[in-house]
Amino acid sequence: MNKYVVKCPECGQVRDPYALHCPNDDALLRTEYSKKQIEPTDMPGIWRYYDWLPVNGIIEEGSGRPVTYKSEGFAKELGVKDLNITFNGYWPEKEAFIRTCSFKDLESFPTMQRLIENNEDRIMVVASAGNTARAFAHVASITGQKLLLIVPKNSTHRVWTTNDDTSSICTVTVDGDYYQAIVMAEKIASRDEFVSEGGARNIARRDGMGTVMLDAVLTTGSLPQHYFQAVGSGTGGISAWEASMRLIEDGRFGDNMPRLHLAQNLPCAPLYSLWTGIELTGRCPEEMHDDVLYNRKPPYSASGGVKDALDDTNGMIYGITNKEAEAAQKLFEQSEGIDILPAPAVACAALIRAVDAGEVKPDEQIVLNITGGGLKRLQEALSTKQLGVDLTVSQTDPDAEKKILEKVSELFSKGGY
Ligand SMILES: *Cc1c(COP(=O)(O)O)cnc(C)c1O
Repeated sequence: MNKYVVKCPECGQVRDPYALHCPNDDALLRTEYSKKQIEPTDMPGIWRYYDWLPVNGIIEEGSGRPVTYKSEGFAKELGVKDLNITFNGYWPEKEAFIRTCSFKDLESFPTMQRLIENNEDRIMVVASAGNTARAFAHVASITGQKLLLIVPKNSTHRVWTTNDDTSSICTVTVDGDYYQAIVMAEKIASRDEFVSEGGARNIARRDGMGTVMLDAVLTTGSLPQHYFQAVGSGTGGISAWEASMRLIEDGRFGDNMPRLHLAQNLPCAPLYSLWTGIELTGRCPEEMHDDVLYNRKPPYSASGGVKDALDDTNGMIYGITNKEAEAAQKLFEQSEGIDILPAPAVACAALIRAVDAGEVKPDEQIVLNITGGGLKRLQEALSTKQLGVDLTVSQTDPDAEKKILEKVSELFSKGGY
């Protein structure tokens, strides 16, 4: 029996394990694992949850995993009794070793492992506002997979690594926003020599992010009432929902579907607009507490997407102001004793609001996904280096695509590529 099959949740048919689309409908394909009860392994990092990752092998080096612990400080500030923090980042004292300090590593490692299993020798293209680029650069510098990163110019500071050999990576910055980087990446990825990582449609990304819920539930022993996360595309929310379905089917952790509380950063909050019908104006992404949370085309209405996840979990979406996020960040950092990225502060602010509004009761079980943190902690312990920018293009330049292709072939024809 195979470890897993990939099925369309809409029409129920089994698809190719690497397919991103169903020919019958627009649904996000989903993994079905033959093992219904998960057993944590003693393999390193994320591979602890190997049973429910769509891979048949692992990358030994460099992966970290979410770590769940019961909050004392932040919980006391909020007046809640069962707050479980799932920390994604670098915090050795808690055994947290994600070396890029965000949960995007949970996506990049399983995705890369599947490329290796599929004997992929095309160049992988990743468009990112920074944290995804860093996560894919990290894993590519370990495996040597050829990688083309397309990053908006203002996000370049986020693309750094703790590894030495980055010779398999070509970094291009676009003078534009994340959306323009995505458009450029899509053009390039449609060529024969390139392969796209697939975004929210990639089951390896979603099941990788699903390990946050797995870690939380295997640590506490039961499915929580509430799950809080800051979202841009909402993929992490979909992943938490899918992982919860598997955990309910597992049978040992109760049958409670956690309520998704997804937090967006105003004014650049398309999911919040779609959900509430409230129209927003503002300069995006300039006016944000964290622009990694800006995604202009989130997978909202596709079957198995964000809307279905919210409907099925009685979920909600919050629009969080910068001021709320800043205050929440300060409170979290002081009460928990670790620095966090600005994005998860948006989730902390949503939790504060939910408690104040009585949406969450003081003794209910809560999981708070800290999607990135420990960057200051990491910089005390390890040295980081910026990835060099190989090329900068303007989004209005008609020759931009040609210039990128030339740069890629120049870089990868050297050094045996
Ligand atoms: C990408 C990202 C998010 C949002 O993730 P989704 O894809 O919307 O689930 C939240 N926090 C951090 C730190 C991120 O990098």
